[in-house]
Amino acid sequence: MEILRSLREIALMRKAGLLVWQSHQLVASMIQPGATTAQIDAVVERFFEEHQAVPLFKGVPGRVPFPAVTCISVNEEVVHGIPGRRELAEGDIVSIDTGCKLNGWCGDAAYTHAVGQIAPDVQKLLDVTRNVLDLAVELSGKRSLWSEVAAEMGTYVKDNGFSVVEAFVGHGIGREMHEDPQVPNFVNSRFRRRGDFQLRPGLVIAIEPMVNMGTKEVRAKPDHWTQVTADGLPSAHFEHTIAITESGPYVLTAGPNEEPDWKPGVRE
Ligand code: MG
Repeated sequence: MEILRSLREIALMRKAGLLVWQSHQLVASMIQPGATTAQIDAVVERFFEEHQAVPLFKGVPGRVPFPAVTCISVNEEVVHGIPGRRELAEGDIVSIDTGCKLNGWCGDAAYTHAVGQIAPDVQKLLDVTRNVLDLAVELSGKRSLWSEVAAEMGTYVKDNGFSVVEAFVGHGIGREMHEDPQVPNFVNSRFRRRGDFQLRPGLVIAIEPMVNMGTKEVRAKPDHWTQVTADGLPSAHFEHTIAITESGPYVLTAGPNEEPDWKPGVRE
């Protein structure tokens, strides 16, 4: 069962979200041919350290604990890529996902970047994935059930000729990175029956569509973490942590210039 957060708690989560946004600004400035994914990870690690924030990804349990503070996934890698010596190359796309805990509250966000010039169909994949996240945020303030939002997400992606990954979903977030409910980017009858939830003020979720150019199917690489598309075609991933409020959806991992006029929590 999901936990509903007070405006005070949402304001605290906004602080964590803003730090995650700032870390992504640093990442964006490093995206260029020749940069290694380990260099990007190191900059984010240092940034969280300097701000007394606890990285959420490092040590996540698995067959081997996740070894880095970011997941960096290039081209056909969907999510959970491990930073390393790989150099970014012109024409790549690179998804960076990271999160931190600040004063006990979590934030989580992901962006996919183009490295230099990319092919037009790959640019469309980035645009559609970004747009479907924006659509989901907007609809979360207008629909009453998540299944209604997820259905429209699925339709939007399909109408654009791409497929939504079903093997991984978004999540509730608060004191922990992964809390109830699960937040899929598609619907099926099982979800409508057993997983659906109401979009009520106080709900805080991470929405994170993963969109593949070809098949929705993914498989894990031998490192036990990195997920790749089954057909080797590219995949994109965007994510925001959002709070549902009486006034509308509040994007906790957006930049300071995107702060809504009715910013909650300011009356305290
Ligand atoms: Mg997430």
